[in-house]
Amino acid sequence: MKQDILLCDLDAFYASVEQLDNPSLRGKPLIIGGSPEGRGVVSTCSYEARKYGVRSAMPMKKAVELCPAAVILPPNMSRYKEVSEEILRVFYKFTPEILQVSIDEAYLGLPDGKGYKTAKKIRAVVRKDLGLPISIGVSVNMLLAKIASELAKPDDLKTIWPEDVPDVLWPLPVDKLPGIGPSTKEKLNKHGIKTVKELANFPEEKLTGLLGSNASLLKSYAHGHDNRKIFFSREMKSISKEKTFPEDIFGRDCVISTLSELSEEVGYRLRAEGMQARTVSIKVRFADFTTITRDKTLPESTNMDNEIFKSVKELFRRHGGKPPWRLVGVKLSGLECWKQMSLLSSDSPRNKERKITRVKDELRGKYGKAVLYSASKLIK
Ligand SMILES: [Mg+2]
Repeated sequence: MKQDILLCDLDAFYASVEQLDNPSLRGKPLIIGGSPEGRGVVSTCSYEARKYGVRSAMPMKKAVELCPAAVILPPNMSRYKEVSEEILRVFYKFTPEILQVSIDEAYLGLPDGKGYKTAKKIRAVVRKDLGLPISIGVSVNMLLAKIASELAKPDDLKTIWPEDVPDVLWPLPVDKLPGIGPSTKEKLNKHGIKTVKELANFPEEKLTGLLGSNASLLKSYAHGHDNRKIFFSREMKSISKEKTFPEDIFGRDCVISTLSELSEEVGYRLRAEGMQARTVSIKVRFADFTTITRDKTLPESTNMDNEIFKSVKELFRRHGGKPPWRLVGVKLSGLECWKQMSLLSSDSPRNKERKITRVKDELRGKYGKAVLYSASKLIK
């Protein structure tokens, strides 16, 4: 079946999230990575830092030499994962066919002819609702969508249709194709193959002599063909939220109340998606950084805060160990579409709770998180 394929890739993702969370970092060179004193490397840097020649995977020491004014931050992976989930949820509003390939990159499948329009909408929503720049490549296969997304960077949209291959793909250097690393590139360059076009036109037999069994695949890539089948996942795998305490915590009550807030947060997101969950998990990190995760499969799927929290509390009671605690998290998985329950026993406690939850969700939708938390405390 013919389909449009999008590759959506957030720009300088870790740095963009930090700039989003801390406005004083916006417009400034920012490097996320290990310490310059040790053997740290750059994991991401803002576009402002790239102007100075700073790149991913560069030793931090060198990066600081190139851009002494840069702000350096250690990565905050749990925050990035959280934002990554929010982005996935945006994608799922547009299509059920999603293949996430990294924390900030996903292929989307769309009906033939719908790719470009949808990509425009996705970019607008990610910008407006999440405040993040995203580049999208649109085409008919993974190869061309990926290359289009690279050409779109930063913060733009680019299509490469099969008829654009000679104009757009062929002038690029050969190592733009997947599977061509530095050593293959050197081999090809030695034989006068510098551009994708030169590879496309190189006789296949000679190429096989040069590259062995890889030759025919690379040659088909050079023509813009890509027969890889995409195994889309048709649902969100999980919804999670965690909190690192500003300092290690000794009080069990404080952890329990944090777990209650986290349960409400993931419950709210679950309902906003029209989903229910079968499995509830907790994550606990102790002061010495040892981390455990434990889960519980429920007899029946739920999307109710009180039922989620009940399992969370029980998991923490059994597996939460001894203080000091450093981080706790709640995760919901085994997600499925919410099945409306029959209203026969509309006075059942579960239905009453459901009504309260609906009011809470409406308040939250109108007034935001702060109101939800205080409202939920009033109700309880
Ligand atoms: Mg990216």
